[in-house]
Amino acid sequence: MYDLVVVGAGPYGLSIASHAAAAGLRLRVFGRPMASWRDHMPGGMFLKSEPWASNLSDPGGCWGLAAYCEEQGLTARHAEPIPVAEFASYGLWFARHAVPDVDERMVTRVSSGPHGFTVVTADGEALQARTVALAVGVMPFIEVPSALRELHPSLVTHSSHHSGLDQFRGKDVTVIGGGQAALETAALLAEQGTRVRVLARAERLVWNDVPQPWERPWWQSARSPHSGLGPGWRNWFYSERPGLFRRLPQPTRARIAATALGPAGAWWVRERVERAVELLPGHRVTAACAVPGGVRLDTMNREGTAGALETEHVIAATGFRAQRDRLGMLSAELRGALAVLPDGSPATGRGFESSHPGLFLAGLVTASGFGPAMRFVHGATFTAPTLVQGVRRRLRATPLRGATLPVPGGSSRTESPAPVSG
Ligand SMILES: Cc1cc2nc3c(=O)[nH]c(=O)nc-3n(C[C@H](O)[C@H](O)[C@H](O)COP(=O)(O)OP(=O)(O)OC[C@H]3O[C@@H](n4cnc5c(N)ncnc54)[C@H](O)[C@@H]3O)c2cc1C
Repeated sequence: MYDLVVVGAGPYGLSIASHAAAAGLRLRVFGRPMASWRDHMPGGMFLKSEPWASNLSDPGGCWGLAAYCEEQGLTARHAEPIPVAEFASYGLWFARHAVPDVDERMVTRVSSGPHGFTVVTADGEALQARTVALAVGVMPFIEVPSALRELHPSLVTHSSHHSGLDQFRGKDVTVIGGGQAALETAALLAEQGTRVRVLARAERLVWNDVPQPWERPWWQSARSPHSGLGPGWRNWFYSERPGLFRRLPQPTRARIAATALGPAGAWWVRERVERAVELLPGHRVTAACAVPGGVRLDTMNREGTAGALETEHVIAATGFRAQRDRLGMLSAELRGALAVLPDGSPATGRGFESSHPGLFLAGLVTASGFGPAMRFVHGATFTAPTLVQGVRRRLRATPLRGATLPVPGGSSRTESPAPVSG
């Protein structure tokens, strides 16, 4: 019987595992480490977040990106984007140093068990756990516009289906979306000789500004501080105070979750896109069908004028929608029991515990509760210690008969039940 099973080995799962191991919990961690970054982003991409806002979290603060770069003889400077491949290597390094063994098997089922949960791996092994932390990231939540969903994958893919873009050399590709994934994918396609256009709903594409220098006069810093999500006090609040964000009225949180930090391209990709990519902002796809040699897209602009174009392949860089009903590895009974927020994402308490006692959630799926930081690596720094505290509260509240609660350092003490608040 494990105290905690962590499902997922991306930035959030690895950070949670690091804090849980340091707290002395009996622990298992499942998932292919840094899979989103190794398998679902084309080579040549860069992080949009600043290096200093792209740390995984360990209790001693020893295994940050700067320490990795120093060991490897690399640089991680403000306003110098880091390649995705380098960040993936950093995550693997973090896993080796700060986390107990990661089991790369996928988890296919989590259901309520006799003393908590039964967790089943892809090859059929079943484990018992008192608590489970789901840190499954973005991949279960892929969002493709309804007009494109029925088309064959040879004609339409999601941007996260590609770890390389070679197959599109010399072809004609249409990328849907106005965010960084769309714009950087389009730049990489154009640079390898693909004819590429970007079709976005927004009337104008939005580009992030070149970052302010790290060192500035005090009055500039006071007016617009740096933060893990960008400059300014609003971003600072989202980035540094997720616990306070959760105390905002629910409609305010919902509005911010839906609108803050919307689609925008990084400053460093702008010139690459504007130089080589056909841009069609203010257009949405109303219908799509297969035609000889590709896809026909029917479009509508903001004035209501209909249009059409033909292309060989469509890449939907249309993001992710974190909804309870897409958590397919949860048994139907467990999934159905989870309370949801109005946007369909599962509700979480202050320690990231869902409405089902002992089931904890992390990452994107908690953004409506804890704010926009949960969509970024930076949010793991708040999530990991807070969630592990929540797990420890839950373990204290529901002790196994004759069981002892592990404490940091490896010894243990007997616990009596304590109330758990959400
Ligand atoms: C193109 C792109 C660029 C991005 N750039 C940035 C950026 O610059 N900065 C930033 O902060 N964020 C960026 N993000 C967001 C980024 O994805 C998240 O910040 C970060 O990866 C979240 O970490 P995570 O651990 O929640 O999820 P992920 O990194 O998605 O990791 C999820 C893990 O769960 C595992 N898993 C999933 N299902 C199961 C299962 N059933 N069983 C076992 N394991 C499972 C996976 O194998 C993986 O290891 C970007 C996203 C995209 C798509």
